[in-house]
Amino acid sequence: MSSPSIRERQMIDLRSDTVTRPTPGMLAAMTAAPVGDDVYGEDPTVNELERRTAALFGLEAGLFVPSGTMANQIAVRVHCRPQDEALLETTSHIRLWEAGGAAALSGVTLTPIDSPTRDGRLGASDFAGRVSPDDMHSVRTRLVCLEVTHNRGGGTVLSPDAIGDISRWARQHNLAMHLDGARVWNAIVKTGVPADVWGRMFDTVNVCFSKGLGTPVGSMLLGPRDLIAQARRIRKLFGGAMRQVGFLAAACLYALDHHIERLAEDHENAQVIAKAVEEVPGFTLAPRTVETNLVWFEVDARHGNAKAVAERLKAKGVLVAPLGAHVVRVVTHLDVSREQCQKAAGAIRALAG
Ligand SMILES: *Cc1c(COP(=O)(O)O)cnc(C)c1O
Repeated sequence: MSSPSIRERQMIDLRSDTVTRPTPGMLAAMTAAPVGDDVYGEDPTVNELERRTAALFGLEAGLFVPSGTMANQIAVRVHCRPQDEALLETTSHIRLWEAGGAAALSGVTLTPIDSPTRDGRLGASDFAGRVSPDDMHSVRTRLVCLEVTHNRGGGTVLSPDAIGDISRWARQHNLAMHLDGARVWNAIVKTGVPADVWGRMFDTVNVCFSKGLGTPVGSMLLGPRDLIAQARRIRKLFGGAMRQVGFLAAACLYALDHHIERLAEDHENAQVIAKAVEEVPGFTLAPRTVETNLVWFEVDARHGNAKAVAERLKAKGVLVAPLGAHVVRVVTHLDVSREQCQKAAGAIRALAG
């Protein structure tokens, strides 16, 4: 078995909150899990995770899936038929980073709505007039997808009040509501608004265990029992039905017990990074306010481009993600301590020249 080189171990990896490795406690929970064949519905650990997560979000049922992409794409398929349309923010993960899944797998048109504040946030007024006419020439508008926290928007938290307004508008127009809540845990910790308040505003919710919660694998689609039964058939169709997967569900149960409250530390560490970014001439936080664990910033021409900045930081032992020609993302997580984030902040400050 190959282990990471000493050099790699020393790297402070802030590219994503997906780079975490299971902790000793999590690994112990995984190896001790009772398991069975989940395709037969016989894995007690998966069943417990599905029950427990659904209850946490105030929804009836859950479906364990290998990835957040699969959870979102199953949701699109459950709510829509070919020729249908989903409305979502322009830079949503579902639109930008799921390999064209809605079109390829479900024949669904994704119609983008620009965030007026350019941080992923939308209000009910942004949806006004966006339902397609009931006409054979048009798509049938069927679904609204929101994302909390918003990844490309900068880890921003759309407020429950705004979601409530959008949800009322959606119901007036007979549209379903789906939450891409890959990082909804961060929003829960940031706002103190409990999970079930977020969950009850939606028909379906995707939550991920492999981002801030630090498991090696796992997401879940939550919703009413009848929709989740349909989702189970679609998971099989998409190749996501797994067998003795309680070993992975055990990691998720462990994360529910141990890794939610600590997200507050990631948020504090992100502030340490954000302060350093603000001090470098030619770096601009975008958005200007960092709310959770994602720090996005723009680099101007004096720094070359995002790749050049990433290379310079790499030489100082810090990995960041260049995600646009002039856009860099830094993400704090379970596997980076306050001290490491302070070191990374020092490396960023040193780029001031
Ligand atoms: C990471 C992410 C997903 C998808 O997760 P994968 O497990 O990588 O497929 C979905 N939505 C958002 C907002 C994400 O950040």
